Parts: sequence; structure tokens; C-alpha cells
Amino acid sequence: MEMVKTLAESLTDVRSRIDAAARRAGRAPADVRLMAVTKGFSREVVLEALAAGLSLFGENRVQEAEGKFAGLPGAWETHLIGHLQTNKARAAAALFACVQSIDSTHTAMALDGRCAERGTSIDVLLELNTSGEDSKSGFRSRDDLLAGLDAVRKLARLRLKGLMTVGPLTDDSQKIRASFSELRSLFEEVRAGLPGFDTLSMGMSGDFELAIEEGATLVRLGTALFGPRGTK
Ligand SMILES: *Cc1c(COP(=O)(O)O)cnc(C)c1O
Repeated sequence: MEMVKTLAESLTDVRSRIDAAARRAGRAPADVRLMAVTKGFSREVVLEALAAGLSLFGENRVQEAEGKFAGLPGAWETHLIGHLQTNKARAAAALFACVQSIDSTHTAMALDGRCAERGTSIDVLLELNTSGEDSKSGFRSRDDLLAGLDAVRKLARLRLKGLMTVGPLTDDSQKIRASFSELRSLFEEVRAGLPGFDTLSMGMSGDFELAIEEGATLVRLGTALFGPRGTK
């Protein structure tokens, strides 16, 4: 019979897997940030995660995140990792420290406008659809992303911090690696002229070790920490 792990046990396990993957790639484990993806989990789970020492959270829907994070105590930040609808840009500007899922110039401009109204700024990552899967968001091609990058650089309220992708849904580790290494090359290519451009967000529960080996500086984990969604 399989025992259900506590969050503390899952966290220990995940941290040692992150360490091992980083060492295999000759990287320092401290160079990989761990994000706890709490979409589909309750506010109680977030409180438990905070108590366990996690402080970086990911959510894919603005409305769900608003309810869950309002008035939470302590030092934490939450990032949007799902597509941002422009009519939610105002709420996103108020809640998130970073929008990792900028997938068009249009979305970026809307977010910049809402930040300007509030007198604030926000970190952003540009998302590339490296898998070609229609169900995934992100800029559709490298060239689209490069055009988006030029536009975003001119937006005063957005701090461009890096790139993000979701790997393909497959068991073929070569394909997954190829997707991550494509994003890594693009990251290396564009970062030279961009101060503060230091974040490569890739890797989820099923593929984070491959992502770290391919250079991820931030991994986004839900089920590896909390178990299957829809259970708590
Ligand atoms: C849901 C989600 C994750 C976490 O997925 P798990 O497989 O539960 O680790 C990471 N990134 C994005 C963009 C997601 O939507």
C-alpha cells in the first residue's frame, strides 16, 4: 500500500532531486528557485506551504488567486503562470509580483497600462510555446517572441526578467530536452543587452530534473509537492 506523503516529506524529496539534477549539470543547487504551484489547491494548502518554508507561489487564474492570497500573513510572492486576459490585467497588476506568461504584445501593453494607472511596476517573463501544442499558450515562434521582446523593452512599467515555457506532453525525454534547450539558447542569445534578464522558468513535476539539466533557474511544481489536484 502506498503511503500518502506529508508536505514536509515531499519537500525533502523534491529538494534532494533538485540538488542532484543541479550537480549532474555542474550547477549550484541554490541557483534553482522552487515555485509551489497552488492552482487547484485551497488556501489551507497555501498556509501549510508557507509554514513549511515555501514563499514563491504560482497560479494560473487571476480570480482563483485573488481569493486564495488576500491578506495572507508573512513574506511571500505569487506569479501568474497562465494566460492573462486583458480584462484581468488590473487585478493581475495588483496581486502578482511577476506575470510569467506574457504571450503577446497586446497583453503586455494592457498590463503596462494598468500598472501606469496604479503607479507601480511589475516583473514579466515572455512565454514561448516550444512544444507546438495548440492547447498551450505562449508566443507561437521564436520570431514572434523576438518581436514581442522589442515591444516589451519599450514599456516603462514592465521589468523584463526572462523567459518561460511548458514542455511537451510526452514520455520522450529527448523531445522534452529539445524543448528546454531551445528556450535556453534563445535566453542566452537575447540576454546580453538586457540588464536583470536572469530567469529561465521551465520544468514541472514530470520534467523538472531535465529542465534543471538544461539550465532552468526556476521550476514550477504542483503535484510533486501537494499530490493530485482536486483532493485538497
Ligand atoms: C499546473 C502548472 C504547473 C505545475 O504542474 P504540476 O505538473 O502539477 O507540477 C507548472 N506550470 C504551469 C504553467 C502550470 O499550468
